[in-house]
Amino acid sequence: MWFPDMTERIIPVADLRYLHAVPHIPEQLTPATGLLSDTLGRPLRDLRISVTDRCNFRCVYCMPKSVFDKEYQFLPHDLLLSFEEITRVVKIFIAHGVEKIRLTGGEPLLRKNIEKLIEMLAVLNTANGKPLDLTMTTNASLLAKKAQSLKDAGLQRVTVSLDSLDDTTFKRMNDVDFPVSDVLEGIELASHVGLGPIKVNMVVKGGLNDQEIVPMARHFKGSGVILRFIEYMDVGASNGWKMDEVIPSAEVVRRISETMPLEEIEPNYTGETAERWRYVDGSGEIGVISSVTQAFCRDCNRARLSTEGKLFTCLFATGGHDLRALIRNGHTDEEIITAIAHLWAKRDDRYSELRTINTEGLSVRDRKVEMSYIGG
Ligand code: SAM
Ligand code: SF4
Ligand code: SF4
Repeated sequence: MWFPDMTERIIPVADLRYLHAVPHIPEQLTPATGLLSDTLGRPLRDLRISVTDRCNFRCVYCMPKSVFDKEYQFLPHDLLLSFEEITRVVKIFIAHGVEKIRLTGGEPLLRKNIEKLIEMLAVLNTANGKPLDLTMTTNASLLAKKAQSLKDAGLQRVTVSLDSLDDTTFKRMNDVDFPVSDVLEGIELASHVGLGPIKVNMVVKGGLNDQEIVPMARHFKGSGVILRFIEYMDVGASNGWKMDEVIPSAEVVRRISETMPLEEIEPNYTGETAERWRYVDGSGEIGVISSVTQAFCRDCNRARLSTEGKLFTCLFATGGHDLRALIRNGHTDEEIITAIAHLWAKRDDRYSELRTINTEGLSVRDRKVEMSYIGG
């Protein structure tokens, strides 16, 4: 059951940060085996950590200015998980079988001394003794400045979000007048210091930037950068999502193939979110992420940790499990390990498979958590 925090007198519309449950710790403590399995037989391999809920962009599909305005209350610093707390949680998740960590946000490069956290995580090995796969998703606004220090700290790769090569369209989407050239410079420098292969995420919103599909594909073809087209999703409750603004991945592939023929290739691993396509002429590959038209819940092995330490077992969850409470109440690693095992064993999320266009009419009670809060 979810309990609203009664210390807050007003729960703002579209703000579900106060809905939480402190995980139950079963009496019988169980050691981590690295072999968790949820009700659909899915393991836990991938943890996405939101290191800040703040962002210097106001992308219209993620943090529209009408909601994330001057009055919007971002989390105060003492509610954020500290780097020590994040590292402790990561070690616990590794014991449960996590092999991949993605730092995200909000904009992760806005978190002060993020390089310090990367240094702390980069030395960790998976349960099988392999180095942890450590990556970050960023809007690249600070990437040119930080690429070298991120690499030096031990970050392996970056994924950059870029929705258009046309300045007018891009500025309309980020809504803070940020130019394309600075993002391209960030990508170039990241590539130069060895933070590759770089992936570029383009969210395609019909009527806004779908005319940019082919120019983006042409620009990155042959560059070594893997461009991925993401279907505009109904995450959160503030972006006013409508099904008819989703451009299906099949349409993206069709449009590119008209001039630059593509063929489908095998996924790199089970549970990969992107479907892979390569150019028939051998000049690289693209990915399409069909979160709306072709759900991939069946193999979903991802969990998300919010900025303030709540665990979400699905991107579309309406409430999180308060791991910070367990940490700050002095519970042992064994107790937290047991609580997470218990939670995962009960996991039955498959929102995308069950999604209907009725999402447009959700009531406030049913609204989902914001992407900028739990990270993409
Ligand atoms: N600020 C960073 C960035 O933009 O790369 C990291 C956080 S952002 C929430 C992570 C990813 O989520 C980005 O690639 C962004 O484009 C994607 N995203 C945000 N809202 C989305 C939506 N409504 N549908 C699809 N993707 C979305
Ligand atoms: Fe910020 Fe990323 Fe959301 Fe854009 S998508 S508003 S850059 S968190
Ligand atoms: Fe995973 Fe939830 Fe997305 Fe399905 S809807 S793929 S369960 S995060």
